[in-house]
Amino acid sequence: MKKISIVIPMYYEEQVAEECYKRVTNVLKSIENYDYEIIFINDGSKDKTLDILEKLAQNDGKVKVISFSRNFGHQAAVTAGLKYVSGDAVIIMDADLQDPPELIPDMLKYWENGYDVIYGKRKKREGESVFKLLTAKVFYETLNKLSDVEIPKDTGDFRLVDKKVVDVINNLPEHNKFLRGLFSWVGFKQYAYEYERKERVAGKTKYPLKKMIKLAKDGIFSFSTKPLKIVGGLGIISVIISIVILVYAILSYAYNWNNLTAGWTSMMCTMTFLGGVILISLWMIGEYIGRIYEETKQRPQYIIEKTINI
Ligand code: UDP
Ligand code: MG
Repeated sequence: MKKISIVIPMYYEEQVAEECYKRVTNVLKSIENYDYEIIFINDGSKDKTLDILEKLAQNDGKVKVISFSRNFGHQAAVTAGLKYVSGDAVIIMDADLQDPPELIPDMLKYWENGYDVIYGKRKKREGESVFKLLTAKVFYETLNKLSDVEIPKDTGDFRLVDKKVVDVINNLPEHNKFLRGLFSWVGFKQYAYEYERKERVAGKTKYPLKKMIKLAKDGIFSFSTKPLKIVGGLGIISVIISIVILVYAILSYAYNWNNLTAGWTSMMCTMTFLGGVILISLWMIGEYIGRIYEETKQRPQYIIEKTINI
């Protein structure tokens, strides 16, 4: 019998923990021929989340709990959950039921038909602020402009993933995993599963601006070294400006325009020129650092999906 593992991170989710367990369990019981496990990760909540999870685990052997010593963040919690899964397919979802568990049976069909990653793509988002929608849009646009891999827009971490893909992710040595980027980066047969993202059933978002900025930074800097190259462009612009000023100054002396204060030319030229040279040098160092950074991530150069006659 095939087994499904559900991974659910929780940070101060005492208001939704039980309801989350019930809804997920109902769905999983309704689909026959599959065994299942639910792995909850308590990401250092100091409310009753852990107590509730402990009780659930006492009464139901299918519930497994990982509890962090402190708050390490959503991505770390999901990463930890993925290490402990034992199922053939793994589903990652939020605790607040914004990603409806009722979609699981349908997603499973795509998995049975040969897809390895079925990622949730939000075609509608209910109950989310204009600010959240706007920042999300700006983030995904920027990320896609900068990044070397295509990271699908309007997707979060809600997805069903085949165990072999989870194994690849687990074996990546890099820390600070930006999961939705990596799941896209690893390839395999992917399916964009469109769904309507619901409102949080209770409680408030656990993603304040500070955490969103950290996530955005992880996403951009771990998938792109382009920011390092931007300083190169600034340096070139600066040098060009210094040349323009110099030409202007020479002309003004030659034709006796007499409009320049003494010292202005030398000051401006030196400043812009040196500024430019410094920025260009920084960019060159940046190119090396970028390469060192790529190497330290130790991502494999390729991932083999299957071999034949080997
Ligand atoms: N979460 C977590 N650690 C954190 C922040 C959030 O484990 O530091 C969990 C949270 O409990 C939820 C999921 O990550 O299950 C998504 O968080 P939330 O719903 O607050 O984010 P939003 O939907 O508002 O983007
Ligand atoms: Mg949410």
